[in-house]
Amino acid sequence: MSGPVTKLSFWGVRGSTPTVDPATWRYGGNTPCLELTAPDGTQFILDCGTGLRVLGSRWTAPAAGVIASGVRNPETHILVTHYHWDHIQGVPFFAPLYSENNAFHFYSFRSKHLGRDSLKQVFETQMATPYFPVNMSAMTAKKKFMEVSGGDSFTIGENKITARYINHPQGCLGYRIETPGGTVVYATDNEPGDPQLDHELRELAAGADIFINDAQYTPEQLASTRQGWGHSSWREGVKVAREAGAKTLVLFHHDPDATDRMVDGLLRQAREEFDSVFAASEGMVIKLGSADGTLETHMQEETVVRDLALQGALISMQHCPRLQSELQITMETPGVDGPKAMKMRGYVVRIETSEEKGHSAVGVVFTE
Ligand SMILES: [Zn+2]
Ligand SMILES: [Zn+2]
Repeated sequence: MSGPVTKLSFWGVRGSTPTVDPATWRYGGNTPCLELTAPDGTQFILDCGTGLRVLGSRWTAPAAGVIASGVRNPETHILVTHYHWDHIQGVPFFAPLYSENNAFHFYSFRSKHLGRDSLKQVFETQMATPYFPVNMSAMTAKKKFMEVSGGDSFTIGENKITARYINHPQGCLGYRIETPGGTVVYATDNEPGDPQLDHELRELAAGADIFINDAQYTPEQLASTRQGWGHSSWREGVKVAREAGAKTLVLFHHDPDATDRMVDGLLRQAREEFDSVFAASEGMVIKLGSADGTLETHMQEETVVRDLALQGALISMQHCPRLQSELQITMETPGVDGPKAMKMRGYVVRIETSEEKGHSAVGVVFTE
């Protein structure tokens, strides 16, 4: 029953600037960075925000992705939407760039402010003296820079990538990645209101399994104080998802001033208007094309908590809960006066196959 599976991991979901405020740790404070592994082993990274550093510290070079011709494909393809700080700042801290065994292909557009090799210039500039202790020549990995323009389409392995311009100050690209496991559309940093670009965004998102969209502002902010800042709201995301026939909407690029409780509120409102909505959170993993997350909605079982931290736990379960569903966990701990029950509430951020047969490893983030 299992077909080709595409794995999408969220390493950074915060917009504009990283946050370390404890009121934002649940959704996470790192700026945009996603990792997508296609069924043929092709590895993509979407944007180079501060989440890229964390990805780098858990780096596994692309699996010997055997592409159709039987040639080994050990490269990683990094699609960059635009040059604002929050989308490039992870690069100097991405350890795999300092190893000559790795190879990266970078893609982005030619900025009218920079001309040829815009992305390369941006990376070099952010590491130039006196902004950073070493310059880019310290990065010994193989690097190639590719220029992409709105409307371009190309294939890597079995996957088709389409880029379109979206509405954002100084320009920005949205990407559609069609894989045998499903279609992911990554469109962040976009403000509604330009009829041509609004139309193109709907074309880009048409029928997507996962539509990741900028939801930085509340609909009220977007209509007043934050107009012209280049961002969107959950309500606009719902509108685009509906009109484009996207299956799941992911609210992304959370405002640095939005606390977890505020993001919970935006998610709640969005879910009232659209069937399948997630709020992107750091550590979330979506598997497209797998049966995960389509199973039970209410269940109860006794199990062992494998990995417990202040923020969350990894639990071995026979049941398979839905991604982002709520779990109530009652933990029994031995006390001096006999066992004590500790009640915690959390939600599911990842589901992995467990070493234990017939079980899933379910990652939970505690909410209270
Ligand atoms: Zn941004
Ligand atoms: Zn931006």
